[in-house]
Order: sequence, then structure tokens, then C-alpha cells
Amino acid sequence: MIEGYYAIDYQVHSFRSHDGLATIEAQCQRAIEIGLDEIGFTEHKDFDPADPVVDYFDYEQYRAEIEQARSRFGNRLKIRAGIEIDYQRWFEDKIADYLASHAFDFVMGSVHYVERQMLMTPSYNANRTQHEAYRDYFRAVQDSVESGLFDIVGHLEYANRRGIAAWGAYNAHDYTEELTALFETMIQREVVLEINTAGLHQVGQTYPSPETVALYSAQGGKLLSIGSDGHHPDKLGHRYTVAADYSKANNLAFLTTWQNRERCQVPLRVV
Ligand SMILES: [Zn+2]
Repeated sequence: MIEGYYAIDYQVHSFRSHDGLATIEAQCQRAIEIGLDEIGFTEHKDFDPADPVVDYFDYEQYRAEIEQARSRFGNRLKIRAGIEIDYQRWFEDKIADYLASHAFDFVMGSVHYVERQMLMTPSYNANRTQHEAYRDYFRAVQDSVESGLFDIVGHLEYANRRGIAAWGAYNAHDYTEELTALFETMIQREVVLEINTAGLHQVGQTYPSPETVALYSAQGGKLLSIGSDGHHPDKLGHRYTVAADYSKANNLAFLTTWQNRERCQVPLRVV
């Protein structure tokens, strides 16, 4: 189904996430059916005590299920155990402590909240202009990269999920300053940009938008990941070729994969 490309899905959830809708086994089974070469699980791990699902993630259970899936499918599919950590600066130390004692293949940092407020909700927007609402989001992403804790920036421009409904159309060119500063830091620290295809069905464009992918490449960014954010097997590898085509068009010729947080570069194009 995904011909011509090395096919990865590096943002996948299972029942090990509070909002997952499938077992790890079912996601791996589906990955093989659609021709993925590699799957990276990114279960949610949250630290905000106000979050009702803060204690949901069970590391031991997760690792056990990953090992079961590897013994069953490991000869046909590379299975990587990652984590998607909700980042807010005020609990950065807690994240660092957690990662010091829990091993993962790779660690994704995602901003869903800024200072305890969910992005682009009425309470978040109340005292901000559109520009400030996005600017503060990008600053939080910048902080996440500067923390040095993460391998991948998860779904950049995820603020659009509610932001477009709240503020109207998003124009990446209005945030060139913020994005340029962010990419400078990402490139310097070798933190990877993800193209997340969930945006295609949520807001009609990938996270980040094609203009932003182009900006990243123009600045010299080369490190790329692709993920569907699939919580159900039906979404696995969702519109992979859209992300792969953007990448190719912007000279992003390699995918970054991980094992035990060691990076590997794989050619995107398979000939
Ligand atoms: Zn997320």
C-alpha cells in the first residue's frame, strides 16, 4: 500500500494510552497488513496533577506488551517503544527524573497545554490576541526543545486543532520569526521534526503545514519523522504518501529512526 517509500509510523497509540482504541498487538498486525517497515509507539505520559489521566500510563505493562509483540511480529516489523510526553515547563524536572529511570527507544515532546491551559480553548484565548495565542504556543515548543529532554517535536502547529476554529485561517508566514528561532534551536540540538498526518483529517493540513516544512528545510533542517497519531488501526499510516511527498519536495531525503535512543538515518525513497 505504501510503495516506493520506506514506511514508518512513529506516532502510534494503543490501550496503554488513556485514549487508545487498540491493543499493541492489533496495531502491529495492521502495520504489517499495510506494509509498514517500522512502527514507533508513543503512548501518552502526563505529569500535570490536575489532569485526570495523569497516572494512567503503566510502564511495566507497556514494556511487557511490546516484548510480546516483538516475539510475535519482530521478524516482519521493527517495533520501537517510544513515549509522547506532554511538556509544560513547570514540571520539566519531573520529566527529567522520569526519563532517568525509564528506558525508551525514543522520546517525543508535545505541547498540548501552556501554563495549565489547553491550547486555544476559551480560557487560553481570553487574554490573548491571535498572534499572542500562537506566539506563546511556539515559545512553549521552543522551551521543550531547549530542555534537551526530547528526540522529536510532536505535531508542531497542533495549536491549529482548535486555533483555526477559534481565530480563523492560520498563516505560517505570520510566525516566521518564532519558527525561524525554533528551527535554529532544533537544528543545533539535532531534534527531529515530525510531519503528523492527523492534521489532514482534523484541520485539512498536516502538523506542521507544508509552508512550515518548507521553512524548516530552507533553514537547513534535515531530520525528519512521520507519524499518523493513530489511536485506532484504521488510522495507521494515514495518508503516508502525502507526508512523504512533502518531504521529498523539500529535499528531506532521510527518515530518522531510533533504538535505545540511538539515532539512525534511513533513506525515505526506496528504489
Ligand atoms: Zn499529542
